[in-house]
Amino acid sequence: MGAPNNGPILPGATVGLVGGGQLGRMFAAEARRMGYRVLVLDPAADAPAAHFADEHVRAPFDDLDAAREMARRSDVVTLEWENADVDALRALEALAPVRPGPGVLAVAQHRVREKDAARRLGVPTAEYRAVGSLDELRAALAEIGAPAVLKTARFGYDGKGQAVIRDPSDAEAAYESVGGAGTELILEGFVRFTAEVSVVCARSATGETACFPAAENVHRRGILHTSVVPARVSPEIAEEARRIAVRLAQGLEVVGLLAVEMFVGEDGVVRMNEVAPRPHNSGHYTLDACPVSQFEQQLRAVCGLPLGSTELLRPVAMVNLMGEDAGTGLGRAGVAAALEVPTAALHLYGKTEARPGRKMGHLTALGDTADQALERALEAWRRATGGT
Ligand code: AMP
Repeated sequence: MGAPNNGPILPGATVGLVGGGQLGRMFAAEARRMGYRVLVLDPAADAPAAHFADEHVRAPFDDLDAAREMARRSDVVTLEWENADVDALRALEALAPVRPGPGVLAVAQHRVREKDAARRLGVPTAEYRAVGSLDELRAALAEIGAPAVLKTARFGYDGKGQAVIRDPSDAEAAYESVGGAGTELILEGFVRFTAEVSVVCARSATGETACFPAAENVHRRGILHTSVVPARVSPEIAEEARRIAVRLAQGLEVVGLLAVEMFVGEDGVVRMNEVAPRPHNSGHYTLDACPVSQFEQQLRAVCGLPLGSTELLRPVAMVNLMGEDAGTGLGRAGVAAALEVPTAALHLYGKTEARPGRKMGHLTALGDTADQALERALEAWRRATGGT
């Protein structure tokens, strides 16, 4: 479509979206609200984003012809899935601006590159070593010490492809459990943290940045369970988390969003754990508690529009609805009871099949304080799911 590279991409234009999961669904809903057309590329027939998109290009992500077709018909291409093929995205750049650019993805897809980049930019991380064999693992373990966490360098998310090594004698079993020979791995020192926090930072093509307030996150089985905002950490720690997110977004030259997950160490040091150049589960609260959501902010950043306010209007908490505790979330008696909780709001992703570990939706609640918001969100979640 030959979008001009200068000047904003205005409503009426078409946004190509790589990935059609729940992040894409919420992005598409916001983009359409603002008068954009959305073209989603995703292989799944029932991709959650397809329900909100103008068009669904149904093809595997490595189908270059399909991706080219999408890009040709788009004024800008963005993504909700950071494991998109970097080379394929590079090929699309000749057809439409790709934001964030493939270079950011190449870093975010690889835990070693990600931590190398953080160190280069002066951002603390856990101790880490790249590991390519069992011998290298043993050597790394001797240097870093146990406990340590062994992770696949690529395609790891939601705690998948990870093993905690509590004692050097666990090394071989851990090595095999995450893929063994031929798998690129990283060994990380175990961080003793008092809290996990995350910040979603937007950066526009002109270098303007805007960060949403830090969320305080609790994971279950490696998957996000709750986010509370404002994070119950000192103002200095919250500010440091935002500073780190801006430094990474600037340093990686992101155009779009960068979500940064961090540990607040027992030693008071804030360390980057990982980054994702897209909207983030821990930023869903922005739909209910900020003037502009993370999804609208992504759209604004990639279209070259002014970034929106990231002000938190009220303390808020979010609880994920997982396949194992919520089913598909539809038609459950508990949902009505959950919505009786003051300020509770329900977001379901339209997934027809519930599997353990699959994110089906989320609930949010507002409060006068972060504690009250969390109490309400958890009460709604218990009513909806019977969970504890
Ligand atoms: P990740 O996939 O890297 O986000 O890891 C999932 C969760 O595992 C994190 O949110 C932490 O709760 C835990 N975790 C991961 N890496 C470490 C580490 N190096 N030290 C302590 N806990 C970790």
